[in-house]
Amino acid sequence: MKSLNLYIFILLGCLSFTYTAAQRPQEEVHNYRINSLFKDACALKNKAKYSQALQKLNEGLNIAENGEDLLLIAKSRYLQADIFLTMGMLDDALVFINYAEKIQRENNAMLDLGLTLLLKGELYFAQNRHIDASDYYDDAEDLLRENNGQQYLAKVYLAKAKFFLKFNEYKSAIFHLENALPVTNEYEGEFIRASILTTLGEVYFAQKNYNRSELILNESLKISESDQFPTLRVKAYEILSKIYGNQNDIEKAYAYQNAFYSLRDSINNIDKLKRDIREVEADASAYKDRLNADLQLQVEEQAKTLKNSKLTTILSSFLLIIISLLAISLYRNNQIKVKTNDLLLMKNVELETAKEEAIKAMQTKANFLSTVSHELRTPLYAVTGLTHLLLEENPSESQKEHLKSLKFSGDYLLAFINDILQINKIEAKKLNIQNIDFDINKIIKDVISSLTQTAKENKNTVNCEIDSNIPKQLKGDPLKLSQIFINLVSNGLKFTENGEVKLKASLVSRTENRADILFEIIDTGIGISDDMIDNIFESFAQGSIQINRKYGGTGLGLTIVKNLLELMDSKINVKSELGKGSTFYFTIPFEISEQQVSPATSENDKKNSKEYDDIIFKGLHFLVVEDNKINQVITKKMLLAKDISCDIAEDGYMAIEKAKKEQYAVILMDIHMPGISGLKTTQEIRKFNTEVPIIALTAISLDENTDDFYAVGCNDVITKPFRPDVFYSKIAKVLTENNSVTQDSIES
Ligand code: ADP
Repeated sequence: MKSLNLYIFILLGCLSFTYTAAQRPQEEVHNYRINSLFKDACALKNKAKYSQALQKLNEGLNIAENGEDLLLIAKSRYLQADIFLTMGMLDDALVFINYAEKIQRENNAMLDLGLTLLLKGELYFAQNRHIDASDYYDDAEDLLRENNGQQYLAKVYLAKAKFFLKFNEYKSAIFHLENALPVTNEYEGEFIRASILTTLGEVYFAQKNYNRSELILNESLKISESDQFPTLRVKAYEILSKIYGNQNDIEKAYAYQNAFYSLRDSINNIDKLKRDIREVEADASAYKDRLNADLQLQVEEQAKTLKNSKLTTILSSFLLIIISLLAISLYRNNQIKVKTNDLLLMKNVELETAKEEAIKAMQTKANFLSTVSHELRTPLYAVTGLTHLLLEENPSESQKEHLKSLKFSGDYLLAFINDILQINKIEAKKLNIQNIDFDINKIIKDVISSLTQTAKENKNTVNCEIDSNIPKQLKGDPLKLSQIFINLVSNGLKFTENGEVKLKASLVSRTENRADILFEIIDTGIGISDDMIDNIFESFAQGSIQINRKYGGTGLGLTIVKNLLELMDSKINVKSELGKGSTFYFTIPFEISEQQVSPATSENDKKNSKEYDDIIFKGLHFLVVEDNKINQVITKKMLLAKDISCDIAEDGYMAIEKAKKEQYAVILMDIHMPGISGLKTTQEIRKFNTEVPIIALTAISLDENTDDFYAVGCNDVITKPFRPDVFYSKIAKVLTENNSVTQDSIES
């Protein structure tokens, strides 16, 4: 068997050697013939005689296939693609380009590959895939430069110039066009030269340099009229008719317009072109059938010469069949792959665009909500502030009713806007979690004491139960934690009557620097039905219409709680029994602060739970920094209601002046002011006065972070429009803290 194989190998080697020797002169003839056919095809293409050009190419292709010259086959496919591209048949062009590209890559035909890549760039440009086009232009330029293809560079520059023209980058376009000259291309030099001049004319026209454009277009027409380049003439006629139109030379404009229409219609009869192409393609496939039959014949003849070995014959024909099958399937696969790739790319681009649009829409929504809520706050400030003042001025009983409704509506709107702003911030991922030392006992007790008054409205009691093993000093975000407790305890109080709401904190586990704490907010109220329980954390979800009518609310509170807890690596849960009550619970992992304070003394406790009502405001003198006239009046009146007098500064500069001259008990600082902002003003004041308490007044927007206020030296923040009780209690708080600080420092 081994010797038989050797024999066959030697035999095939000899056969192929004699075959090759005999082929060589024939090959040279073939090459010469094919190249002249290609040259003719090129000339015909430039004259817009596409079907004739394709026929020439087909002849060339037949010879190339006969000689099994892969590179010539690729070249004819490249030229076919060029014609298809000129005719606007982009899909067919891409198939042939990819085919040529594959062969040229596999056979290292880098110069040819450069031209094919340039054509691919032009195809993508026609498809408006500009980034791909530009990449391919660069690759083509590199390949042509590296492989002695200088004579083809003019084509690259021309393509690049068209690219820049499309994006109105006229300087770059002209630079590339000037670079492209002089043209040395042996195949289609005149056509390229005329194309460059036409494009240059187009650029000058776009720059409104009509005289120059006219001069150059006439120059290009000299070439394209004598050499019959109708596509270029069409372009030149079109622009010239516009130029003359602009110069009010109606007669010439009209003449060129007529020439443009008639020539364009004569070359652009696409239906005829497509028919021609179909015929040419049919010829080609008939030819391929013939070729296959020849191949079969050859196989049979070879079989005869090798009849000594029947086995070899069978094997080789079998092999040949398998190889041809393989080749066919490979070609098909490749075609399918090319198309699928293209489809996938297109889909990718579509998806990317859709994603970008969705993100843009989200951002627009967030900004819109932020602006609207922000704008609503200023007039709302007037409504709630003035209502409060009117209520204080001993109104009649009937007025009192109306004012109370007005106050209720104002408070409701205020809560609603604040909730929307916060959800908006969460969705826009603009909400950051702080990680600072805080006392968990104090937070819980503050929440409970601030809600004691509310509890009385429904005759409830509100209590807390704190596990004594919980470390006093933890690290986290005390403000957001308070907000969570306030939301949940307020809900408990809202949905409970004559009952109890309890906030319970228990230590679940503890390591050296970590404590997991379980918080439970337990009420004995109306409870939540099973079918509602899964939905209550969705935005705007409420138990039922009846519940909404009876208890009010916006349906945003629990959504905010859920989102805030997620930011703290926790998750809210609820268990409830209708008519018996509900328990909302969650566990938060806290870092334990290294600075542990001694357990709160009863003295401290007293101070913490101190009601702000007994602070004496009378006789204090404040500075109000505020540019809005209505706000000035309201703030002033609200202060007067507590016997506090005030100076008003209309902007930051005035505020700094006044703060230098006078010692104020508190400065209320508007943050958004024209000119120097409240933050900058505070920073300046802190340079010469570190003592005076400064409270920032702000309608917080999407981009603001309360941390910035504390960073510049504010003692507290009140968001506008402020609720009077919050307003007074925050003032009271900074006053007590300031006193105690001064007291402490005196004592030490
Ligand atoms: P709302 O502003 O309407 O209270 P929330 O998001 O805070 O919005 O609550 C959504 C719904 O969940 C409420 O409308 C109510 O039906 C139900 N709910 C929340 N907390 C309780 C509770 N403690 N007891 C009974 N139902 C509750």
